Amino acid sequence: MSETPTPQLGSFVRELTVADVIAETPDATSIVFDIPEGDEKEFRYKAGQFLTLRVPSERTGSVARCYSLSSAPDEDSQLKVTVKRTRDGYGSNWLCDNVEPGIKIHVLAPSGIFTVDNFDQDLILLAGGSGITPVMSILRTALKRGTGHIVLLYANRDEQSVIFAEQLRQLQEANPDRLSVIHWLESLSGLATPEMIGNILQPVAAKRHTYMCGPGPFMESARAGLRRSGADMHLIHQEVFSSIEGDPFAEVVIAEPVEGDDEPATAIVELDDEVHEVSWPRNTPLLDVLLSQGIQAPFSCRKGECSACACILKSGEAEMMHNGILEPEEVEDGFVLGCQLLPKSDKVEITYNE
Ligand SMILES: Cc1cc2nc3c(=O)[nH]c(=O)nc-3n(C[C@H](O)[C@H](O)[C@H](O)COP(=O)(O)OP(=O)(O)OC[C@H]3O[C@@H](n4cnc5c(N)ncnc54)[C@H](O)[C@@H]3O)c2cc1C
Repeated sequence: MSETPTPQLGSFVRELTVADVIAETPDATSIVFDIPEGDEKEFRYKAGQFLTLRVPSERTGSVARCYSLSSAPDEDSQLKVTVKRTRDGYGSNWLCDNVEPGIKIHVLAPSGIFTVDNFDQDLILLAGGSGITPVMSILRTALKRGTGHIVLLYANRDEQSVIFAEQLRQLQEANPDRLSVIHWLESLSGLATPEMIGNILQPVAAKRHTYMCGPGPFMESARAGLRRSGADMHLIHQEVFSSIEGDPFAEVVIAEPVEGDDEPATAIVELDDEVHEVSWPRNTPLLDVLLSQGIQAPFSCRKGECSACACILKSGEAEMMHNGILEPEEVEDGFVLGCQLLPKSDKVEITYNE
């Protein structure tokens, strides 16, 4: 079998060394990474964000897979992701079978918008199976940094498959007035239906922000349950676990302008503590323009499917070529995907900071 040639990696690709591997359950493994000295700023993350890992493949060169950080930024000096085997899945099984301390893995910097603005508010957290990973980071951060009350409803197949069971028990014990953990085990109670989820959440759903993550059917039941319990659907935040297609690690190539092209637009982009003003060719997605100029905007799939590059259109006009992830409510709130965004007006202001 001939190996697929490796495309040139983008200058934005980083390498992490595995420090530890932890068997969490029979089919879930945590991978702990050291943060290279000097790269602390690049690997700064918010609870709920994820890393994109480059998994080697003899068939395609590599596949890109996202894994939420289950570590908590305020408490852990290392990065930790937790990978659950997907039946017949390539990337998750490769990682669970091959990763050991000392090996190096190419990654993209942390990204994602499944994050909490205000940790002092009361929260509902809903997790199914491996969906606990970003939820765990949010939970620990909220308990450490905030003051609100938190209800966590965590659904699993059976007791054996509960990831972080002991850690959750300890958090509950240490925070009896602030945390209620409700475990839902399919082996004991059957699938969690919208009626059951609605009944459990009804006393608390009305005004709380909800963060949920899990397999598709769980998320559907949870959404329907929240609707039944009178929740404001604008306060629901969800992280959808899917596999990336394509190669987001490849270097960005910007087409040279040719005669007859329209004049480029101007993008004014707020990112972290800086404001960048860049020339924006009309046929080039904003993310590619920023990366090609060495501006480290967040991203993962580069295909409009993952929301890691979501930002807010502050003024001017721009349109997305494809939106495979943002909910209508998020688009109404001004969110756009940087990797799919083309300018429609001469000047466009964007912020990644809200
Ligand atoms: C934001 C985000 C966060 C996530 N966080 C987590 C998390 O915390 N924990 C977690 O467990 N999951 C998480 N996921 C899901 C994760 O990214 C993967 O989708 C999941 O692990 C399944 O990937 P897989 O490759 O095992 O399975 P699949 O994607 O189902 O694998 C099958 C695919 O791999 C291809 N394939 C098969 N063999 C090969 C080969 N030899 N070479 C190349 N391609 C091959 C097939 O063609 C097929 O397309 C997250 C996803 C997202 C988007």
